[in-house]
Amino acid sequence: MPEQNGGPAGSSRDPAEAAALLLSGLQYAVFERTAPERFLQVNAAPAWFERLQQRTAEGPPVALARQFSALEGFLPTAEACWASGSETPLQSDFFTETDLDGNEYHLLAVAVTTGGRHFLAIERADATYVNHEQLQIYAREMVNLYETIIQLNREVEQATQAKSQFLATMSHEMRTPLNAMLGMADLLAETELDSDQRRYVGIFQRAGANLLGLINDILDLSKVEAGHLELESVEFDLAETIGRVLELTRVRASAKGLELESTFADEVPRVLVGDPLRLRQILLNLLGNAMKFTDAGRLEVRVGQDPEDPAPGALQFQVRDTGIGIPPEKLESIFENFSQADSSTTRKYGGTGLGLAISKRLVGLMGGRIWVESEPGQGSTFLFTVRMGVSDRPALEASPDDAARKPAEPAPLPPSHILLADDSEDNRFLMGEYLKHSACTLDFAENGEIALSKMKSRHYDLVLMDAHMPMMDGYTATQAMRVWEQRHGQPPLPILALTADAFKEAADQSAAAGCNAHLTKPIDKATLVEAVRRYALKCRRSPERSFAGTPAGPVQTAAVVAPPAGPEGAVRTGPAPRHDSSLAALAPRYLKNMTKELKALRDAEAAKDDATVQRIGHNLHGNGASFGFPRFTDLGAELEQAAKEGRWHEIHRAVERFAGYLEQVLESSAERE
Ligand code: ADP
Repeated sequence: MPEQNGGPAGSSRDPAEAAALLLSGLQYAVFERTAPERFLQVNAAPAWFERLQQRTAEGPPVALARQFSALEGFLPTAEACWASGSETPLQSDFFTETDLDGNEYHLLAVAVTTGGRHFLAIERADATYVNHEQLQIYAREMVNLYETIIQLNREVEQATQAKSQFLATMSHEMRTPLNAMLGMADLLAETELDSDQRRYVGIFQRAGANLLGLINDILDLSKVEAGHLELESVEFDLAETIGRVLELTRVRASAKGLELESTFADEVPRVLVGDPLRLRQILLNLLGNAMKFTDAGRLEVRVGQDPEDPAPGALQFQVRDTGIGIPPEKLESIFENFSQADSSTTRKYGGTGLGLAISKRLVGLMGGRIWVESEPGQGSTFLFTVRMGVSDRPALEASPDDAARKPAEPAPLPPSHILLADDSEDNRFLMGEYLKHSACTLDFAENGEIALSKMKSRHYDLVLMDAHMPMMDGYTATQAMRVWEQRHGQPPLPILALTADAFKEAADQSAAAGCNAHLTKPIDKATLVEAVRRYALKCRRSPERSFAGTPAGPVQTAAVVAPPAGPEGAVRTGPAPRHDSSLAALAPRYLKNMTKELKALRDAEAAKDDATVQRIGHNLHGNGASFGFPRFTDLGAELEQAAKEGRWHEIHRAVERFAGYLEQVLESSAERE
């Protein structure tokens, strides 16, 4: 029995005995190792140790390794530790021993050298063991949880991808026929109509334009949500961008009797680096709303330095109106998808509740935020900030208030030599028609191989490269051109990919092949002219500005081919291509070719030649709508897809529908003649 504190005065206290007692109390069994496998017990063994010892009949000196099988693994390392003379204790892993009654003991062993003597302590560590086990369980759970999160994340990503792909496909497929309808409505509006007919066509045009706007909004939103929307980074004149926004708004504002003003703080840099088209989209959304919800008074656009960020290019825009205002509880929710302040809004004012949601995302991409301050009945002020780059190029002589300025006629294209690689004769013809009255000369190549050899043999200012061609496709040809340029120390030629595919993957593929931009078919004349102006010209005027073999920035799509910053740029209010009415005259020739294509399709079907069906389908898809026959575009897409997957039954049906439709069109055009 150890002596108690306050025990009889003068009783002897042996420190060594006290230490041994303490060790037993702490549930340690301690041994001095005197020779290999020889251990002398130091303290009176605790009860648990004795119970475990009862498992063998052996007495001291203790043959530890035989009594505790788990020590067999530890003792050789302990020997090495003792031999090294290191005074750092060496601890074993947990090990579990069971006594004769089946009780479990969780133990730890420690080898230690101190005062030149070697010791082995075995500790009963049940509590630590439980904690340790618990931690192990937590760790395993964390790993499982982490894996589940990764898996869920992957699934969510796939679902978002699928959703955005679906929306992009749908929007793309809907836009093509809609373009043709709108083109036809425009043509119809140019003919002689009585007043009722004119009214009907007007409704047709307005409803079509609204639908096109909605489809473009959905496409934008799905692109931003899937992280597919990339902003451009180009130099632009801020005053001019705002001037154009006001120009587009002023006519409608004055028709409603609203004043429209703008103020532009002096400290704002005039030439910025950013995405002017997307900035314009935000401002048009906000001004469009301001105008829609204001019956009397004034609208105002203000631009100044962001009061919370002194960095150059950190700007704050304000769009103010004196309209109906927004109730306080709706100030935040109106920025959500499909959200309107009032359920009667759609009935009264139209709209879908997408404009602000898109604006919010675009502002976010520009490094800023958007919010609104409003007083019901008094008006609203929408504010947003952006962070743009600042260019040191001098500003153009333009003022944002100079809205009386007529939109400048696009300057004629300067002479450029262009190589067009496209296997579709119709497409080659179409592009030729588009550039007929310009100073551009077009050379044609029917496949990538021919394009490559032409490009090697003479100078071009620009290459238009169809992606899908027989023999050598456009991507392979582009890569080969880039390799050749490098080998011959030639500056990289601007190459624009042409595809019928509006998805980001197609743009990525073009970028990876080394194209500078990506134009989506059907391509209208204005888009082609803009693209030629932008790419061929840049190369000529500033040869030092090289088009790197692999493009420096993200590859651009037709939708973001922006008018150049200069005043000669054509104004394009939407990305959707429109049917060019001047092409109506070309329809008979196109239809004649379609008769040939039908024969080729029938032959290919009989020969089960899926490559030819796919090629013809692809070409129809690309150019049917451009010639005013969106049905050919649809059938082309169907044929292409069915041929890719070898679904001959569907190919047959599509070929027959193609034949039926062609016959119908030919008949009606014969009647007209
Ligand atoms: P839409 O205008 O197509 O309904 P938006 O996302 O642009 O969609 O706007 C969402 C809602 O916010 C509108 O329906 C309207 O209720 C409210 N709102 C937006 N701008 C204004 C404004 N200037 N004045 C009053 N209400 C506005």
